[in-house]
Amino acid sequence: MTDTDSFSSQLFSSLKIRAELLTSLDSLKYEIMTPIQAQSLPSILAGDDVIGQAKTGSGKTAAFGLGLLNQLDATRFHVQSLVLCPTRELADQVATEIRNLARAIPNVKVLTLCGGVPFGPQAGSLEHGAHIVVGTPGRIEDHLNRGTLHFKGLTALVLDEADRMLDMGFQDSVDAIVDELPSPRQTLLFSATFPAQIKSMSKRIMRQPVMIEVAATHTADSIEQHFYQTAHDQRMDALRLLLLQHSAESTLVFCNLKRETEEIASALNADGFSAIALNGDLEQRDRDQALVRFGNKSASILIATDVASRGLDIDALDVVINYQTVHDPETYVHRIGRTGRAGAKGVACTLFTDKDSYHMALLKDVLGADIDMSGEPLPSTSLLNKQAAKPAMTTLQIDGGKKQKVRPGDIVGALTGANGIKGNQIGKIQVSATWAYVAVKREVANQALKKLAKGKLKGRSFRVRLI
Ligand code: AMP
Repeated sequence: MTDTDSFSSQLFSSLKIRAELLTSLDSLKYEIMTPIQAQSLPSILAGDDVIGQAKTGSGKTAAFGLGLLNQLDATRFHVQSLVLCPTRELADQVATEIRNLARAIPNVKVLTLCGGVPFGPQAGSLEHGAHIVVGTPGRIEDHLNRGTLHFKGLTALVLDEADRMLDMGFQDSVDAIVDELPSPRQTLLFSATFPAQIKSMSKRIMRQPVMIEVAATHTADSIEQHFYQTAHDQRMDALRLLLLQHSAESTLVFCNLKRETEEIASALNADGFSAIALNGDLEQRDRDQALVRFGNKSASILIATDVASRGLDIDALDVVINYQTVHDPETYVHRIGRTGRAGAKGVACTLFTDKDSYHMALLKDVLGADIDMSGEPLPSTSLLNKQAAKPAMTTLQIDGGKKQKVRPGDIVGALTGANGIKGNQIGKIQVSATWAYVAVKREVANQALKKLAKGKLKGRSFRVRLI
């Protein structure tokens, strides 16, 4: 292939798509494809199922939008494609982008169906027919249940920001919707990260998907490993320095004793860090709350024993710190494997003392000679003047859950809208049988609390508090 060939293959004009789409692209001044578009469009246009690793700003919307529009028959009045998005804001952006791309095809109707707005007018719009529906899972599920939306003639489904959608607790709704869709159909899934939940969902609902990864993927060397020698009684200072140096959103600190988890967490909290202890002695409710707050980024440091950390399903750990050397190499590898996932670079730090030479030698056998375990200098103590960073989010606890028929979409609806907060200020939502937790950006926590406490969920008020 010559340079000219490889360049022309990056142009939209090289794609075999309907002429109207090329006209729209021309008027939008989109000429050169972004990497995700260049890599995914050939498979999307061929009708394959595609999983794309892509964030907002990558041009993913045009990638799937062109795929949906290319197969659309505007003369047939039924829903042909469905795009599921985590928030109303994203759904609006996606609908706008698709309408722009569709501008040269006459009479294409793109309808958004999101929670937090009245149901009736949406049902009315559906009666007039729509070709492409873009919406949030909760509201789409409502329309299905009430019989205002039908998917008999659907040929394509898109899950946009699938990881956010699952974070916000929409798994059940997504499953219920997919059950109502015809197969075969084309399924496209876009996500910035790929936690286990997404992998298993894609296995369930997709056919031999083509994987498109634009960012670098996880490799063994995507974890930076550091070893620091300290005196036994100076480990707390060493820990503070490492936490201040990395100032990460999510750090997991391992120690060997239950008692230590409590001691370290209280010492750190007294210093302005936001730490939680996780050990086997916690009551179930406290354990749940600890995991919720750490998992939704309302607390940035979790201090745990190995046993307590089992079952911790958190994919975006930035840093793992071993408060003392690990006695068995397999445990070490398992612990540090929790960081550096999904294309992100991870950091693992281990503290050891001069009494640990036996265990360090065992570890060295497993890690090999490439890793420097001789002990590097700790960060400068001048860092101790720095303030510990506050976590990005705060958790609101709502005294109602599945039994009260509270669903994630209801919570998003109740938080947004007049005097509310924006969809992109909402983080993870977790709903259990009798309560729900929602993470919101720290700076809007009080506003969110007021809005939830004054407003109604499922037609009634619930007790809400910050935890
Ligand atoms: P997205 O990642 O889909 O949110 O898109 C990011 C932005 O890039 C949107 O404002 C699009 O309108 C724009 N965009 C998408 N594809 C292209 C392209 N190939 N050339 C120029 N702009 C684009």
